Amino acid sequence: MSAKRIGDAVGDCLATRCLEAALVSHKLAHAYLLVGRDEDAKLALAAALAKSGNCRGDHGPGEFCDTCSSCRQVDAGGSSNIRIFGDSGTLNIDAVDQFILYASVKTASSCLKVSVFRGVDFFTDVAADRVLKTIEEPVPGNVFLLLSQNSRRVLPTIRSRVQIMKVERSAKMANLHDAASATGEDTSLEVLLDFAKANVSLSETVGRLLRMRSQNSLRDNATAGLRTLALFMNSVLRARGKVPPLAGISLSTEPELARVNFVLDESRVGLFLDHLGERLKHVEQNVNPELVLTNALLELRRMTTHE
Ligand SMILES: [Zn+2]
Repeated sequence: MSAKRIGDAVGDCLATRCLEAALVSHKLAHAYLLVGRDEDAKLALAAALAKSGNCRGDHGPGEFCDTCSSCRQVDAGGSSNIRIFGDSGTLNIDAVDQFILYASVKTASSCLKVSVFRGVDFFTDVAADRVLKTIEEPVPGNVFLLLSQNSRRVLPTIRSRVQIMKVERSAKMANLHDAASATGEDTSLEVLLDFAKANVSLSETVGRLLRMRSQNSLRDNATAGLRTLALFMNSVLRARGKVPPLAGISLSTEPELARVNFVLDESRVGLFLDHLGERLKHVEQNVNPELVLTNALLELRRMTTHE
């Protein structure tokens, strides 16, 4: 049986190469932020790291046998050297407590303990502070893997204290559709940001949103654009501390959105979001997508004034 490397788990990418090199040179960072839409790839990488750090087989540094008792325990979910907390779609405060508790227990010497937390995108300031305290005073032999779907949703305090690595399966394994929708959301938010800052005209903004994913129909693009408008509004309000975090939507601030310098008429937000719901239905009912999107953006513009 030949030894395996981390790269065998998710394919060769910058993240796997970086971790392999760090293991070989014994220079593993104490905390990594693993970013990417592919949750399975990040978890596979975490498991491979736990195997590499604890394998009892005979092989070179940074490798693992995948057959010894330690490797098999990782696969079976029974290893004490790796534990996964949190959820990729929401924040669970109890999970934060359990993560901190697990991470602060000393490991046997020569063991590598991998403490994984999913859904760092949803950390509140309070949760982030507590986790950072743990990360910055790690017990020896502990490595933290914080998992995020979108690094721009992760609080800057976290981002500045960890090594950020994008994890994606190699092109062959990658789900191209997911990759496309991931860039789509980010790019759409930027388009709305430009519009909100009045850098770009209404018609140009509508055009950009409708052409966002060229392989999709105008209708699908309009639907995605309206959804992004809702996300945009929620993010702006959250960034200004105006609404409590909502379940299922990113709880952390969008740093770029927090800096939008416009005056928002907040009394109209509720109605604006109601209208978005109606507009989504209109698109479904085959109302001209360009018209629907234009009206939604006009309403956004009427709610905002620039200094
Ligand atoms: Zn092994």
